[in-house]
Amino acid sequence: MPTRLVFLGPPGSGKGTQAERLQRDHGFIQLSSGNVLRAEIKLRSEVGEQAAAFVNAGELVPDDVITRVMLAAVDKLGAKAALVLDGFPRTLPQAAALGDGLRERDMTLSAVVDFEIRDEKIVARISGRRVCADCGSTYNLEFLPPKQDGVCDSCGGTRLEQRKDDHPTVVQHRLNEYHAQTEPLIKYYREQGLLQPLDASAPADEVEQEILSLLAKLDSA
Ligand code: AMP
Repeated sequence: MPTRLVFLGPPGSGKGTQAERLQRDHGFIQLSSGNVLRAEIKLRSEVGEQAAAFVNAGELVPDDVITRVMLAAVDKLGAKAALVLDGFPRTLPQAAALGDGLRERDMTLSAVVDFEIRDEKIVARISGRRVCADCGSTYNLEFLPPKQDGVCDSCGGTRLEQRKDDHPTVVQHRLNEYHAQTEPLIKYYREQGLLQPLDASAPADEVEQEILSLLAKLDSA
């Protein structure tokens, strides 16, 4: 049975960075709802057109839209893929729809990793975040800069940009959304025995080590 993880946590808690690492070095596929939506918006697809206004304002995209997109992505990857769902589910209805969708496909979740970090740390982190416009790799000018100033380590692209929704007022709104809509998932998954809390305020290398020990524990269970 391939490992399937959900990464749960506020924006800027490092979910994307860690999911990228699992994909780069450990045979996982990162399914980032934010990346999927941004790609659809760029393509001006029907889903992209539906989602654009929500994403740019830091509002959550309607549950049925995101659920459809993410389950389609799971189907495309097939039953054998080790997955990290990064940024999905973000509401209780999404979590229930994911549970139903996986059951219909005879799939299960291995664990839900909860990235714990305080709001004050997040605002500082997000203001330094930059994303490569060519390949989507993420950096942080303060905590995780590219090796060469302004150049993407992964693809050599030179457009390291700030996301529209990473501006401070939008960030605060996204944090409020997180507390109101997403935080209830912590209890939901704890009750299912799937929750694995993680100190996400530690440096990225330490957080990665913690995730790898968790994976080893899951493997031997
Ligand atoms: P992220 O890159 O995960 O911070 O997501 C960026 C934006 O995409 C969010 O602020 C939402 O507008 C939208 N989004 C991503 N994932 C979801 C989700 N699971 N449910 C609703 N909206 C989402």
